[in-house]
Amino acid sequence: MNCGIPFCHSGCPLGNVIPEFNDAVYRQQWQEAYDILSSTNNFPEFTGRICPAPCESSCVLGINQPPVAIEEIEKHIIEVAFDKGFVKPNHPAVRTGKKVAIVGSGPAGLAAADQLNAAGHNVTVFERDDEPGGLLRYGIPDFKLEKWVVARRVRLMEEAGITFKCNSEVGVNVGINDLLREFHAIVLAGGSTIPRDLPIPGRELKGVHFAMDFLKQQNKRVSSLPVQGEEIWATNKNVVVIGGGDTGSDCVGTSNRHKAMSVTQFELMPKPPHARTELMPWPTYPMILKTSSSHEEGADRHWAIATKEFIGDEKGHLKALRTVKLEWKMTEDGRTAKFTEVPGSEVELPCELALLAMGFVHPQHQGLLKELDVELDERGNVKASEKNYVTNIAKVFTAGDMRRGQSLVVWAISEGRECARKVDEYLVGSSCSNAETKASSHSKGTPAPKTGSQ
Ligand SMILES: Cc1cc2nc3c(=O)[nH]c(=O)nc-3n(C[C@H](O)[C@H](O)[C@H](O)COP(=O)(O)OP(=O)(O)OC[C@H]3O[C@@H](n4cnc5c(N)ncnc54)[C@H](O)[C@@H]3O)c2cc1C
Ligand code: SF4
Repeated sequence: MNCGIPFCHSGCPLGNVIPEFNDAVYRQQWQEAYDILSSTNNFPEFTGRICPAPCESSCVLGINQPPVAIEEIEKHIIEVAFDKGFVKPNHPAVRTGKKVAIVGSGPAGLAAADQLNAAGHNVTVFERDDEPGGLLRYGIPDFKLEKWVVARRVRLMEEAGITFKCNSEVGVNVGINDLLREFHAIVLAGGSTIPRDLPIPGRELKGVHFAMDFLKQQNKRVSSLPVQGEEIWATNKNVVVIGGGDTGSDCVGTSNRHKAMSVTQFELMPKPPHARTELMPWPTYPMILKTSSSHEEGADRHWAIATKEFIGDEKGHLKALRTVKLEWKMTEDGRTAKFTEVPGSEVELPCELALLAMGFVHPQHQGLLKELDVELDERGNVKASEKNYVTNIAKVFTAGDMRRGQSLVVWAISEGRECARKVDEYLVGSSCSNAETKASSHSKGTPAPKTGSQ
């Protein structure tokens, strides 16, 4: 590949050893490629499908050409590994007799569970939903991540000895004091689930919904599971998605599948540039315009727009939005600073379904976190440093979006792995002292097996 010095593995939050697995693929050494990949990543079948691939932004080839399609290679390695029967349940060599409870079964909880089980601890995962997976299961649409992929991994984890207890909400129908009594350590991995609201006039109208209510219903429908509460459909409606991130893009794709009459997406921020600028040089992650497959399927995208009012009809149903254009003023260093409304730019846009996709503010405080009286940081996330992942409460750790705020699957896996290492150190005095397992012996920053040339 002639990378010279590769930067891709430091672009990957997991420290995936990319040049080596690429080389193994080039030599058609699939077992070797899988061994290298799985030494740093518990779930390449997830990241290979939905990671925004910061590694590719730092690929050497990307200086003057399209980068190596690392994410696609990753997906192919793991699917070949499944086909060829390389992927086996990660059984520990010995059991320690220590019991760990994991609260939440998203990628952070799953990665922590996989690592701790591989290190010999008895792991039970508590999940309030009816199936494990967190946002992988209920949130991310099936057209991005089919749910058999999640179920296949959960099955393997069960075969390796991990217990999943679904429909179990800690702090509601499972007592946190019971967990503190019964388990030697607890990992809080409940995600960042409280959506950012838009408290403007008309917010109470029928037809204004949080994105997650819409997306979760669709996951249920696709799996032929019953949908609870009022059904939200985009069919034959003018849909406006407020928020330009991943969640917004997923609402666009889902609305098009519902056969919406029109799909419009608003973003408060100005339109990003198409290519790197001087302020985002290679190999940093560039804040450039992203166009997802959902956008390609059809959406009218607008930037620098604020919604001022939801307008309803006499029956209390949403019928239009009142919006205004914004003018952003940049600071001298080129960072976006503040906006002002453009006079005379207010318009009314017909809209019968508005989906709020403006991100998530913090984890749910009600229930588990309140009862536990755990310390929160200034953003309302569970407070624990990146060094030790432990909260202010003895033997209670935290990882993933619940600790770092809304992020990415690859970061959640990384946090789950690093948190598991700290839990293991806490339980047995040093990390993985009793079992030299593949899963826990090569974590971020530690060298991978020497394989192939670079
Ligand atoms: C719509 C959407 C699309 C996204 N798309 C992408 C993408 O394409 N690529 C990407 O990298 N990232 C994406 N993300 C972000 C990514 O999904 C999250 O960063 C990641 O899932 C966080 O993992 P987590 O394990 O910390 O939390 P979560 O995945 O949120 O899992 C937390 C789990 O904890 C459970 N839980 C919470 N409290 C309790 C309790 N008291 N008792 C029991 N269970 C509890 C919840 O039910 C949930 O299942 C997306 C996010 C959303 C919302
Ligand atoms: S996990 Fe994401 S960042 Fe890491 S190698 Fe795979 S695609 Fe790249």
